[in-house]
Amino acid sequence: MGDCIFCKIAVGEIPAKKCFEDDFVIAFHDIHPLRPTHVLVIPKRHIVSLTNVGLEDEPVLGRMLSIAQKIAVEHGSDDGFRCIINTGRVGGQEVPHLHLHILGGSEPVGPMVSKVK
Ligand code: 5GP
Ligand code: ZN
Repeated sequence: MGDCIFCKIAVGEIPAKKCFEDDFVIAFHDIHPLRPTHVLVIPKRHIVSLTNVGLEDEPVLGRMLSIAQKIAVEHGSDDGFRCIINTGRVGGQEVPHLHLHILGGSEPVGPMVSKVK
């Protein structure tokens, strides 16, 4: 676990607005929301990123996706939402603990990525 902020959120050492928890995952509101709905879903176990997953992680990866709809709807995204997993340097990942962003609201989230000039 070390100094991982998301591990600390998972065990309650750092406060967060939690909105879902089960044996595998915890979901909480992003501290700097980019859309009206912006929730992060993380595995309770420390996994750095999608580059560090194996077959044994399939149950937790499945859970992260299968609860997204429920979380999105409960937070006002009943007409769709977007899931993003930034991975590594190229993916723009800032926190090195695997997390799924759920973004939504009543208006479209917008273009998937901007063109790199
Ligand atoms: P990344 O760029 O790694 O995909 O996204 C990391 C996300 O974590 C960012 O959207 C950032 O706002 C969020 N974040 C960073 N630190 C904290 C924190 O201490 N609490 C919460 N709730 N969100 C955080
Ligand atoms: Zn961690």
